Amino acid sequence: MTQVLTTAVDAPPAPEKILNFIGGEWVASESGRSLPLYDPATGEHLAEVPVSSAAEVDRAVQAASQAFRGWRETPVVERSRVLFRLKMLLEENVDALAASVAREHGKTFGEARGEVRRGIENVEHACGVPTLMMGETLEGIARGIDCETVRQPLGVFVGITPYNFPVMIPCWFWPYAVATGNTYVLKPSEQDPLSHQQIVALADEAGLPPGVLNVVHGDRSVSDALMEHPEVKGISFVGSSPVARRIYEKSAKTGKRVQALGGAKNHMIVLPDADFDYTGGMLLDSLFGCTGQRCLAGSVVVGVGDAYEPIRERFLDGAASLRIGHGLDEGVDMGPVISRAHRDRIRGYVEAGRVEGARVTLDRSNVDVEAYPNGHWVGPTVFEDVTPAMSVGRDEIFGPVATLSRAETIQDAIHLMHQSEYGNATSLFTTSGKAAREFRYEAGISMIGINIGVAAPMAFFPFGGSRNSFFGDLKAQGSDAIEFFTDRRVVISRW
Ligand code: NAD
Repeated sequence: MTQVLTTAVDAPPAPEKILNFIGGEWVASESGRSLPLYDPATGEHLAEVPVSSAAEVDRAVQAASQAFRGWRETPVVERSRVLFRLKMLLEENVDALAASVAREHGKTFGEARGEVRRGIENVEHACGVPTLMMGETLEGIARGIDCETVRQPLGVFVGITPYNFPVMIPCWFWPYAVATGNTYVLKPSEQDPLSHQQIVALADEAGLPPGVLNVVHGDRSVSDALMEHPEVKGISFVGSSPVARRIYEKSAKTGKRVQALGGAKNHMIVLPDADFDYTGGMLLDSLFGCTGQRCLAGSVVVGVGDAYEPIRERFLDGAASLRIGHGLDEGVDMGPVISRAHRDRIRGYVEAGRVEGARVTLDRSNVDVEAYPNGHWVGPTVFEDVTPAMSVGRDEIFGPVATLSRAETIQDAIHLMHQSEYGNATSLFTTSGKAAREFRYEAGISMIGINIGVAAPMAFFPFGGSRNSFFGDLKAQGSDAIEFFTDRRVVISRW
């Protein structure tokens, strides 16, 4: 694993109450409904997450709608300056934000720091909006006639985000949306909503006017109220594939723009000419980093020909020695999973794998961490002899469960990968440029790593998958974000 904590970090204090942010004010939900929030490492009850009512959702959308005109009229350079100020505030708060992520999500402090940095990179990229948002002109499309495109914002956009990157994933969307002159309502995951509260507070401090960015907490009922709201122009969603498909279909029915990023089952293919020591380290980080709760996490390791035995040996040795514990404690490689229910779901897959006939080579799924008896612990678990028809070979488990498979040739490995319904990411490990080039051509997967275990595009490149991992046309980040949050209006003039 590449990110190991060297110094213990204090857990941040738990909030007294989790508030919505509507029209520039922090307000308590009056819905009377809430969900408990637990520290995944200690099992301690941290707070109650409100499930906002449809009336509260409407208030947030109305606040965003009312703020739209004034914000759109704010010169683009002034909008950009707010983001520059936010970027500076984020830099001053990196460690506090990382500690918050590590505590509420469970990942290690090093992993959380990496997440915060990725979030900041999106704010940095969005600061370039005066250039990114430029249109095009062409003089003389006919005699005395010129043509130009201008990019214009559309109004209120919505983000519905998952638990696994509570700081970074909302930053794939709202900084671009507001930079381009739209206003925003975010519904963060109900499983770890605290860290992004701090970012919203910093955006407020940076000078984002009231109503430009709003937050309403809750579960799928809040997603539904947002999708059904007539003032909402577009939805960005990240989460599991069944929900992504539902969001895509429901939003399309009401004529909204939609981008819906779903789940994954990523194949890591190792060729016999790979550097096995290096590849072994990359694979451990890919499959067990963030306790396997990454959409870019490797899931199936495919050893091609003679690569199988050496990579199996290195991978199993590494997986057996990973240190599991509280993400804020010293020397921990792997934290807990998000919830007790998710832990039980992962253990259920391990049991199903056995029943379906897969061979369990390493089973740390029932691991205990003595100092934290109530944490949601699942250790690295490795299966062999898995077929794509078995649930462990087919489904997204989203935990530290790996399968090792053999293939005779790289074509066989690609064929195995294509039996999965998902197409988020894949990686090839090789020292052959020719093999790498052919893989890029044939893989048919959107995010490809060559000797990289977690092929995470940076902010100025598109992030999103293919097949059942993505529903929509425009992806997150990069120039796709500018496309998604603006309409290109064409003006044809004769004077
Ligand atoms: P999830 O689908 O359970 O929830 C995501 C969000 O949708 C949450 O805000 C939740 O409140 C809301 N939601 C849940 N059910 C809903 C429904 N039926 N209708 C409307 N809204 C609903 O996902 P999760 O467990 O929070 O996150 C893990 C999943 O996210 C994994 O499948 C992972 O692969 C995926 N993910 C994908 C990417 C990507 O880039 N493709 C990135 C991160 C996570």
